[in-house]
Amino acid sequence: MAVAAMIRPISHTEASAALDCQAKHAFAYTGQLTGGTALKPKSTAPILREGRAWGAAVAAWHSSDGDTERARAALEIQLSLDAADQEQAGVYDPDEHATLTTHLHGLLDDYVLNAELIRLDRLERELLVAIPSRTGRADSNRYRLQAYIDGVHTDADDRDWIVEFKLRRKLTPFELIAKLRQIRWYAWAWRKETGREIAGVIVEERLNAVPKPVAFKQDGLPSKVQSCRPDAYVAAFDDLDLDPDPDIVAKLQAKEWCKRHPLVLSTAELDEAGRQLASVGSLIQQLDTGALFPIRNPSPLRCPGCAFRDVCGGNEGDTELVEALFERRPPKHERKEEVNGTRVR
Ligand code: SF4
Repeated sequence: MAVAAMIRPISHTEASAALDCQAKHAFAYTGQLTGGTALKPKSTAPILREGRAWGAAVAAWHSSDGDTERARAALEIQLSLDAADQEQAGVYDPDEHATLTTHLHGLLDDYVLNAELIRLDRLERELLVAIPSRTGRADSNRYRLQAYIDGVHTDADDRDWIVEFKLRRKLTPFELIAKLRQIRWYAWAWRKETGREIAGVIVEERLNAVPKPVAFKQDGLPSKVQSCRPDAYVAAFDDLDLDPDPDIVAKLQAKEWCKRHPLVLSTAELDEAGRQLASVGSLIQQLDTGALFPIRNPSPLRCPGCAFRDVCGGNEGDTELVEALFERRPPKHERKEEVNGTRVR
């Protein structure tokens, strides 16, 4: 039987909230601005639900040697879990669910026809790894990094690659991928948990859009404006026994629907990730205890997508509004967790 202990998990999402805007962190995790109760939005943003279902589906496809039915099943299971949560919170919208499901199946159909398989030796796993203490000389006995890994690929040299699948409105340039703290922290956690040699991280980004069928003009010829795959465009001309426009073929070939970025990480970079996590633990500890009063960090880039924008900056005390939009729950540092990561309350 697992021994229960008061541990304090910190996910990358929580750390990001604390680093982006301490008020956002207070709303979601400490309740410092809302009378001591943290707030959980009743409705999960579609983009988060899409990302979760996509990660589960694609990881299942790669780990099953390209079994599309397994991928579809994983997609449906994740969407059903999210729908059940939405139903429980009273915000389930069957039309929105159906649209999301159709969209993701369309994406998956296109993905399995075009993606190259990565052998995943281990599949979706949650890690709960002690972060270094502030001095860096020992592990914190309370703070843990909570990491959700999509998969792990072991290469021919027996080195591990953490694999992350992302769904994006816009693909990210490699220079920015290389700086992402989440993947570095996950690689650090995997090395610490398993003691295995880490080669790096493979980040695969898929554009959150389905290529359209070939568009035709009224005269029956393919249009010059296309959002299809290049092979579909060329096939349309084959059917008409005509030559395709080479400029349009080149443009369609240049369009990136999916991009895989292998990022090699050195031992020094992984060590630095550990030092960053010690800083994160220290920040969260100060926010948990109230030693730091949360600073609002508003920005036109940050606030429009923030789940707390309707109550932030004046409406925190509007009980009716707060309870219409959020569930109240205990602050995260007061929730009990077991060492094996199973939430007990
Ligand atoms: S609305 Fe803006 S200032 Fe308020 S919590 Fe969200 S990000 Fe911070």
